Amino acid sequence: MTAFGRPVAARADPARVPAIALGSLEDGGRLFDRAEYLVDPGHRLDLPGALAADWRPMTRADRNQGITDAAMWLRFVLVNDTARDREIVVTHDIAHLTEFVVHVRKPDGDVITTRFDPYAPFAERPLAYAAPAVPIDVPAGERREVVVTFHNAFAIPMHVSLRLWSERGFDREPVRYVVYVTFWTTCLLAAAVFWGLYGVCMRQMRMVTYAAYMAGLACTYVGFSGIGYQLLYPDRPWLQQLGYHWSMFMLSAAALDFARRQLDIASRHPRHDVVMRAGTGLLLVCMVLALVRPWPALEAPITFVALTASPVYIACLSWVAWRREGMGYALWMFVGWAAISVTIVLGVFGALVNAPFGSWSQMDFLRLAFALTVLESVLLSVSLAQWLRGQETRRIAAEQAAARDALTGLLNRRGFDDHVKRLRASGRWPGNLWLAAIDIDRFKHVNDSHSHAAGDAVLIGIARLLQRECRAGDTAARFGGEEFILLFGAGSESAAVDLVERIRRRFAETPTVHDGRSIAHTLSAGLIAVPDHPADDTTALIARADAALYAAKQSGRNRVCLAEAAGA
Ligand code: GH3
Ligand code: MG
Ligand code: MG
Repeated sequence: MTAFGRPVAARADPARVPAIALGSLEDGGRLFDRAEYLVDPGHRLDLPGALAADWRPMTRADRNQGITDAAMWLRFVLVNDTARDREIVVTHDIAHLTEFVVHVRKPDGDVITTRFDPYAPFAERPLAYAAPAVPIDVPAGERREVVVTFHNAFAIPMHVSLRLWSERGFDREPVRYVVYVTFWTTCLLAAAVFWGLYGVCMRQMRMVTYAAYMAGLACTYVGFSGIGYQLLYPDRPWLQQLGYHWSMFMLSAAALDFARRQLDIASRHPRHDVVMRAGTGLLLVCMVLALVRPWPALEAPITFVALTASPVYIACLSWVAWRREGMGYALWMFVGWAAISVTIVLGVFGALVNAPFGSWSQMDFLRLAFALTVLESVLLSVSLAQWLRGQETRRIAAEQAAARDALTGLLNRRGFDDHVKRLRASGRWPGNLWLAAIDIDRFKHVNDSHSHAAGDAVLIGIARLLQRECRAGDTAARFGGEEFILLFGAGSESAAVDLVERIRRRFAETPTVHDGRSIAHTLSAGLIAVPDHPADDTTALIARADAALYAAKQSGRNRVCLAEAAGA
């Protein structure tokens, strides 16, 4: 038992520390301006040594400690000015302090020391809380002198934010904290499951890596908040020892790989592609090593560099893709990653230069960075959705292009076959349908005596004529060279013949004018009724219409021949 206070009476006067009256304790109140403060750079002091050193009042500016191995000492006095015994809880905001020790001196000089073990199972802690939390009893009308020491061997920014809670306030706090962490984590995991399954079904690695990124974020969140260790696996020390660095490596690797795929880096920037692949590979190796843990001391510095450098790098690449290369969906990636970069850089460099940034601590920046990662995940989803929409638009355009003839814009053979399939499926086949095979007479001669371009103009002209003569539901297609197919509805044979005759007449009466020269032309056509045999295939039907067309050619061209009925 240490008699703290005795050897230090001359240097650190307990009366200098303003007493905190419990009657007016505001829950979660911070100790700035109400405590004395000492930094112990080599973490060498013991309690008497610390008390013998020079203390000074702790201000808000003292809370930013950057990346440090120094131990912090705080002392303050609690006065129970109420008529009942009180239990006060002292907590720290960061879950993963290496050490957190609370010494409480009673008026008779006895000192009660409580050590908080960051790896102690949840159930075995003095208080069921994910972060350091130690209860202090203060009987009615009494006072307690308290000294808290803590230090942080992890290379993450250290901040000093001790809080004091009443019993009731503290009871509510873990609920609020767990709800906060659970909410964000659930959002991330739900999105990860959705995109993961979608990516596997669609065979899209970019979605799978995006899902891995969000799953990594969720795991980091659960580990970093302490909730993973303490609530989810309190009896599994090996899981507790794993820490959260493996998940930080995983999320950094997945973020790099997702950006590489989503921004199409391989075809646009081969050099960056090599850098990103190498970075991803390296981070995956680090992730596996973090599970085996041969060099635990290296994990934190590497994650720190990865978590700072990769958002800045990806934000820059997204900007280039968006502004210079016109990838619309890269805008969302840029906004998301830029927000995270700014937050992390401010948090990190704020820690390094000990800048207080108004009332913000590094932990506030870290929490903001976490919340922004969720927002950023939503933006990445928007980016993915926009990419998907672009793919779909291109797919539809390609499908349409593949079904059409480039010169005339009419359906080609493939488009015509698909159209017939749709007709059959809709039950309108056969119905009162007629099929005409139309071929321009002596078209070779047009090409030879005018030009190929003139021939093209004639082809475009006949396509327009066919489209004009088509009614809704009728279909014209170009089957190759100068042969066309017209599939149309007509109530009788004479109506069908009339239509094709009208087309023949108009084509013959309206020469094409090309380059100021008039090109006369005629056409021949074979016409056939689509018979009421649903099994009849179009190829056989067209062959019979072609036979009728051949007959029209044989009997002198510029005429329409009707095919004999099937089986006749
Ligand atoms: P017929 O009256 O017996 O049908 O004689 P034809 O000259 O029209 O028939 P043939 O099949 O011998 O010639 C068709 C010509 O169509 C040959 C080819 O050069 C031309 N052709 C095919 N596709 C195109 C095209 O896209 N543009 C142009 N300008 N000519 C084409
Ligand atoms: Mg011809
Ligand atoms: Mg021909």
